[in-house]
Parts: sequence; C-alpha cells; structure tokens
Amino acid sequence: MRVVLAQPRGFCAGVVRAIDIVEKSIEKFGAPVYVRHEIVHNRTVVSGLEAKGAHFVDELDQIPDGAVTIFSAHGVSRAVVEAARGRGLPVLDATCPLVSKVHSQSRHYVEQGRTLILIGHAGHPEVEGTLGQVDAPVRLISTPADVESLDLPRDTPVAYVTQTTLSVDETREVIASLKARFDDLVGPNLSDICYATQFRQQAVRKLCESVDVLLVVGAANSSNSNRLREIGVEFGLPSYLIADAHSLDLDWVRDKATVGLTAGASAPETVVLEVIEALRQVADVEVTQMDGVEENISFRLPPELRHPDDQLVGAEA
Ligand code: SF4
Repeated sequence: MRVVLAQPRGFCAGVVRAIDIVEKSIEKFGAPVYVRHEIVHNRTVVSGLEAKGAHFVDELDQIPDGAVTIFSAHGVSRAVVEAARGRGLPVLDATCPLVSKVHSQSRHYVEQGRTLILIGHAGHPEVEGTLGQVDAPVRLISTPADVESLDLPRDTPVAYVTQTTLSVDETREVIASLKARFDDLVGPNLSDICYATQFRQQAVRKLCESVDVLLVVGAANSSNSNRLREIGVEFGLPSYLIADAHSLDLDWVRDKATVGLTAGASAPETVVLEVIEALRQVADVEVTQMDGVEENISFRLPPELRHPDDQLVGAEA
C-alpha cells in the first residue's frame, strides 16, 4: 500500500500560537488556567492540555474570580470581552490574528454605514465571535440561495466578510452571487479565508488526482477539516474524516493501492503517524509526501508571555 501525505497538512500558525499560550500561561502563572471553549477543535490537543492543568469551560461564569482566563483561537464576541473585563478577570486572548483581522474589517464596514453580511456556518464559535463584533444586525449566509433570499433592496450599501475556514470554491460562488445581487458591495474577495485553509485545500486537490481513498485527520466539529473531506467527495473518492487512529475502519482501505492522508489545521502530526501505524495492520506501507508549499508563518505571543516579568492585570481588550 502506498500512503501519500498531503503537503502542507496539520497545525497552522494560529493553532500553534493558541496551544503555546495555554502551555506558557500554565508555566508562568501556574495551574489551573481556564480556557473558554476548546482552545482548538481537537480532542487530542484538549486532553493533552487538561493533563497539564488547563480547565475548559463553556462560559465565563464557570471561571472563579481572579483565575487566568484564555479565549480560544476562534475568537469571542465583544460581549464576552466586556463581561470578562467587568469581572476583572486576567485574560490572555488566543484568538488567531487572522480571525481578529476579520473582526476589525467587520467593525470598519459597519462604521462606514454598510449593512454587514457574514459568509459562514451558523453555530461555529468563530461565526458567533464575528457576529458579536458589531452592534448592528449582521446577515449570516452560506450559499448562493441564501443571497437570493436576503430581504435588502438592490441599492443597499453592503459589505461582506467571511469565516476563515470555508471552502474556497463555494465562497467564490457566494461572492459572485452577492456581486450580481447588489450595486454597492465591498468585501475582501477570498482573502479572509486564511492561508492555512487555502494551502490545505490546494494540496488535497492535488492529492486527490492520484489516490484511491482519502483520509482526513480532524475533529467532526473542525470546519477546515470537513472542507478537506468534501474535496475528496467532489473527486468521487471514498473520503473519511477521522478523529484518531481508533476511528479508522480498516475495511475502508483494505483493497486500496494508494491512500491519501491529510490533517486539518488543528490536528497534531502525532495522530497522522498513529494512523500510518494502524494502516500497517492491513499491508506493507510505503509512505511518501507530496511536493507542496513549505509554510514558515508564525504569530507572536501576547506581550505578557513574551516578557518574563510582565504580569496579567485585569482583562485586556
Ligand atoms: Fe488562524 Fe487559519 Fe489556523 Fe484558523 S485555520 S487558527 S484562521 S491560521
């Protein structure tokens, strides 16, 4: 059996930064630290951080007064920031800088007097955070059909932003529908879809040209991982999203000569290696890696974790 690894795959710079923030805050301030929501959408990562002293909670009211509080990589609404500030919680913000960029775009467009449209998936924490950046109503859409049903006159000044982890091709179609529907429209085209999402999707497209089955390591609630599996489906390949090696059904691969393997932006490489080991139960495995983009992007930690003497005081904006 040939196993071909997509390049790039796995952790992005925003996920590395978020995990570093939790680990370094435990080192500097001591356990426990409290993280609002899964720091990234991956059970292996979350369990590893729990073992080191992170407590994951759904809401701020589960965090004791004075406890170090971390916002997840997906970002939070302004109401959550203000609630933390109101309680004087010492906050470290692990929101990916590329999500923060979408937040500031959203506020900028609304300040210009435009009606804001967010292209994204309802219920995802990043979408909840972006919706909560502005006081004005935001229209959430995800398909060209949603564009048709927007109850706004054609000449309304509108702007759109997007979730960072969408399908590039589907988003292109939604933006084309918006351009056809409105006379006065501004937006970032596809550049809100982050580099990691775009590169992983490009790599999987190339991978799908030469494999018999696609395996994507990633969590069921990971947006970018789901989009990778959908590309395999588009290519007509049997395509599976697996949280870890235990969720791999060997019958999916038993008769396949070439297995394509990738991982979403929140999935650790250790899980990819475990999946390869599991594949060795059915065949002799030869592993190769596609040629692809070498990513060398990193994001700076918050100042309180860069400077050894800086302490956390109250909530930061
Ligand atoms: Fe940031 Fe993109 Fe990674 Fe999300 S997937 S954390 S937006 S780099």
